[in-house]
Amino acid sequence: MIPFVDGWDFVQTLGEGAYAEVRLALNRETKEMVAVKIIDLKKAKRDGTTENIRKEVCVMKMLRDERIVQFYGSRTEGDVQYLFLEYAEGGELFDRIEPDVGMESEKARKFFCQLVSGVEYLHMKGVTHRDLKPENLLLDSKDNLKISDFGLATVFRYKGQERKLNKCCGTVPYVAPEVFSGMEYRAQPADLWSCGIILIAMLAGELPWDSPSGECKEYEDYCTKKSLHLSPWTKIDTKSLSLIRKILNENPSHRYTVSQIKEHRWFTKSGVVSSGMTPQHSPHDVYSSSFKRHTSSLTPENPANKMLTSSSGVVPASQPEPRRRPFMQDLLSLPLGHKGLGGASGDEAGVVSFSQPATTEFVFLSSQLSQTQSSRHLDTFQRFTKRMTRLTTRLDVGETELTLRPMLESLGRTSNPFPLQFFCTTKDRRQALLTFQIVLIKLGPEKTVVDFRRSKGDGLELKRVFRRIKESFLKKKLLSDK
Ligand code: ATP
Repeated sequence: MIPFVDGWDFVQTLGEGAYAEVRLALNRETKEMVAVKIIDLKKAKRDGTTENIRKEVCVMKMLRDERIVQFYGSRTEGDVQYLFLEYAEGGELFDRIEPDVGMESEKARKFFCQLVSGVEYLHMKGVTHRDLKPENLLLDSKDNLKISDFGLATVFRYKGQERKLNKCCGTVPYVAPEVFSGMEYRAQPADLWSCGIILIAMLAGELPWDSPSGECKEYEDYCTKKSLHLSPWTKIDTKSLSLIRKILNENPSHRYTVSQIKEHRWFTKSGVVSSGMTPQHSPHDVYSSSFKRHTSSLTPENPANKMLTSSSGVVPASQPEPRRRPFMQDLLSLPLGHKGLGGASGDEAGVVSFSQPATTEFVFLSSQLSQTQSSRHLDTFQRFTKRMTRLTTRLDVGETELTLRPMLESLGRTSNPFPLQFFCTTKDRRQALLTFQIVLIKLGPEKTVVDFRRSKGDGLELKRVFRRIKESFLKKKLLSDK
């Protein structure tokens, strides 16, 4: 464990993105857990994205809803900015989607209703997310959805005045056609389009097209209704499909609004509203009168990696401070106890190493195993092991490493900078860049966990890679039964 501030340790890496690493901080005494997003400001400055970080903080301060990951506060130390966030124990929604299969339709319906509820809240506050996708939707301990990662969010309505947006933003397969076209667009319909794509991902385990443009045959065929007898459409039942077609209307002014979605018979089916929907907030939507409430950057210059950069937007300067939980005071004010996060590679100024040896993860895992009396910890451990992109071999770590290496090398550029850790960069089926990290965790003399984590690219594609590697281990009879 790495001491963070007095009384707090970093116990696990939760994920990483282009500029940030997210770690779990655990209070030694109270066992409270906080997700800490650690942002490399030097890198952000170099890439001209400092403004995005400032906006992410401004936007998060405005939001307080059960469908949004709660922001507790932030602090800056040298070239590192720390954002303190509610810890979403259940991980990413993306982890619940089986590639090419999806998930049970009732579960998808629950998550979708919660997503729409969260988006409704955001829009009521005048905020648009602009990068809605399963990787940015987290789950709490009861599997309730929370919208996360406001790195591309902006304010589209201020003091009742809506402005149109014009910058391409988001992850290409999830962005609306009007966003992709580079024309001015309205924020709300664009977010809802992404919700429609997320629904397809949940119901079919695949995305319908690479990009919503005339150059993409699947999208063209969808617009001309030529493809509806093909996958993914054939995997989706007619009621769900009817709603999806209304949401994925190419014309944003004809696209279903939140209130229309909520009135659709698929949405209103009994049982859904009670499964985690929040009560309606106040009326605010400007494009619907009956409205009640609520992988890697693809820059236009670099379309290879599927995401678009953010635009600058007006963020109101004075936002109400969110109510702070008492424990936050320590995290916000006590001196930092660590000298850099990488141990070996950090320096006195607290510079973050974004490539960590696997030890912290291992320590966390062992500490969980030894604390079986603590139901809270056990529960966390169970969730920790539930991830879909994780397999267990019946080999020791050295043999697992040896078996894995050629499999990864056959996929693409592979490096092994620390013991028990691989980085691999490959191209997915769509020829988009996919970068992922693998950590080996020793569970016993003949038991090793192999944990896959996406760094850049489409999460569903990572799962396909994972499945292929798992099948190879299975064929060689090297998977553990337990
Ligand atoms: P990207 O480059 O993909 O936009 P980012 O640098 O903005 O990523 P986030 O998306 O905020 O970083 O976080 C990266 C990952 O860390 C998430 O996908 C998720 O797995 C994990 N994570 C982030 N916040 C939390 C949280 N509050 N609780 C649990 N896990 C989290």
